[in-house]
Amino acid sequence: GTSAPVQDPEIAEKIANHPCYSAEAHQYYARMHVAVAPGCNIQCNFCNRKFDCANESRPGVTSTLLTPEDALAKVKLVASEIKQMSVLGIAGPGDPLANPKPTFRTMELVARDCPDIKLCLSTNGLRLPEFVDRIADLNVDHVTITINMIDPEVGERIYPWVAWRGKRYTGREASKILSEQQLAGLAALTERKILCKVNSVMIPGINDEHLVEVSRTVKGLGAFLHNVMPLVSAPEHGTVFGLTGQRGPTPQELKALQDRCEQDDGAEMNMMRHCRQCRADAVGLLGEDRGDEFLPETFQGRE
Ligand code: SF4
Ligand code: SF4
Repeated sequence: GTSAPVQDPEIAEKIANHPCYSAEAHQYYARMHVAVAPGCNIQCNFCNRKFDCANESRPGVTSTLLTPEDALAKVKLVASEIKQMSVLGIAGPGDPLANPKPTFRTMELVARDCPDIKLCLSTNGLRLPEFVDRIADLNVDHVTITINMIDPEVGERIYPWVAWRGKRYTGREASKILSEQQLAGLAALTERKILCKVNSVMIPGINDEHLVEVSRTVKGLGAFLHNVMPLVSAPEHGTVFGLTGQRGPTPQELKALQDRCEQDDGAEMNMMRHCRQCRADAVGLLGEDRGDEFLPETFQGRE
């Protein structure tokens, strides 16, 4: 997308060194994900729990779960071999904030031993408000929130349930809770100058028209970048709940929606056009995945 000039130097720096926020940076800076967060506290209709979180990752891949200690060993090994390594993201395989212990433990270990590596986190946002202070204290630079709707009527076709404070909610109530938490979390993060990207999965006939409004809303709350991703539906990925037979968008439909979001309102929203839907254990520059070079046996037990 075309990006408006950024005035705040603190923000400009955060953009420049993250390959997902800056189309330029993605040729020079590498990122890695570590898969330390297995569980999830919501159910998306398009998610099959055997695979990585479908809100952030390429559908149909399964990453090997690591302990925080093994994740640290892997980060050190990768940083020693890939000089451009600048960002560590925790993006799954479930929802990082549904697994706060391993997620924050991993971040603490990496902050202690690799202070130059920037921290990045992806979440469905349900528990975000609760953890905003912790995220800010850990100097997390970038947070991605997946927001597929802001209207519970749309949401009830995407989310069959959410588990919230010890209770399971269904129907519109579930999506209302999720949406309120997501938007409150986004506002609280941008207030603290943490750079926020919003991911939305485009589901034709369900939220495609609605995503323009989502884009406008998150822009209003200070999101820096909107990443509309296509639903990838392939029979072999399985569909757990209501989306059997649901198709994904064509590349033309995706681009038309991205253009509409960008132009909406006269005010420009930065749209991400170079997302690769990386795995929860991706390693390297955005166009490449060197994850297979760093399998558990290469780093486990190393200090
Ligand atoms: Fe699956 Fe991610 Fe949705 Fe959780 S948030 S149900 S892991 S797609
Ligand atoms: Fe960046 Fe997209 Fe990969 Fe996330 S999935 S690391 S946003 S390119």
